[in-house]
Amino acid sequence: MSEVLMRVEGLKTYFYTARGIVKAVDNVSFTLNRGEVLGLAGESGCGKSTTAYSIIRLVPPPGRIVGGRIVFEGQDILKMSSEEYRRKIRWKKISMIFQGAMNALNPVLSIGDQMAEVFMIHKGMSKKEALEESAKLLSMVGIDPKRLRSYPHELSGGMKQRVMIAMALALNPPLVIADEPTTALDVVVQAQVMNVLKKLQKEYKVSIILITHDLSLIAEIADKVAIMYAGKIVEFGTAEHIYLNPQHPYTRGLLASIPRIRGEIKKLEWIPGIPPDLVAPPRGCRFHPRCKYKFEPCDKEEPPMVEVEPGHYVACWLYAKR
Ligand code: SF4
Repeated sequence: MSEVLMRVEGLKTYFYTARGIVKAVDNVSFTLNRGEVLGLAGESGCGKSTTAYSIIRLVPPPGRIVGGRIVFEGQDILKMSSEEYRRKIRWKKISMIFQGAMNALNPVLSIGDQMAEVFMIHKGMSKKEALEESAKLLSMVGIDPKRLRSYPHELSGGMKQRVMIAMALALNPPLVIADEPTTALDVVVQAQVMNVLKKLQKEYKVSIILITHDLSLIAEIADKVAIMYAGKIVEFGTAEHIYLNPQHPYTRGLLASIPRIRGEIKKLEWIPGIPPDLVAPPRGCRFHPRCKYKFEPCDKEEPPMVEVEPGHYVACWLYAKR
């Protein structure tokens, strides 16, 4: 029986802007088991990164978490003070591989200084001990420990991203959030970084939330997949459910827009229209202005999440009883 590591229940994170309230994450719920990889996918602006920043409590202003619970190892981490969260949870229990290693690493500090700091602050190690631990971590992600003396600009994009992975795993946290970890890398380096992540996930049995707009990347590593659209999860299930038996029209549209390298050559499909403005999202199902299956209730009432097969959930009126 799988052990639940984290339950996100009815999470709401809004941004209070001059134009109005942007409901970036609006009533999002999911469960993550220990050692499991969850892929969080959707178009830009669907709320996947804001969900991640809410979990690690780094939502930038003017954003605020305004509702819901995040129960991690039995404790609601949204009820902790910022100080308590920083001391007990961030980096020790939940760490993050940030989008764009280029900007996430400090350009004026050597890799060694940046990595050693994690051990010195959180484990009270001396600089010498911290550098020894950092050297082991670098080898683990396939980088020569001599590189501890290098500065970020002396490393390639893939190496920098592997340094970020090493830093996220430094304190052996039960959960790592990887926010678009391979964006801006070419496909060969992307594959190397994903292989490192997969290997370490197996070795350390760490849970990962992998955030990406690239469904083919999620297919390589995820046990479960959540598809987000306009601040909400519209489909959730195992990787087999989502890839072999997608049910939500949005999920089907996303999968149909991935080029195939095998089988009959067909014209690529796309989803017409653009995601809605989250200051004033459409009434009812937020996908209805773009959906070719929409019918009578879709622009009036929000569809409930229904279980279409064990463990496979869809928020669409095609499957819900009224
Ligand atoms: Fe389409 Fe209606 Fe389902 Fe929304 S609820 S995805 S509009 S069929």
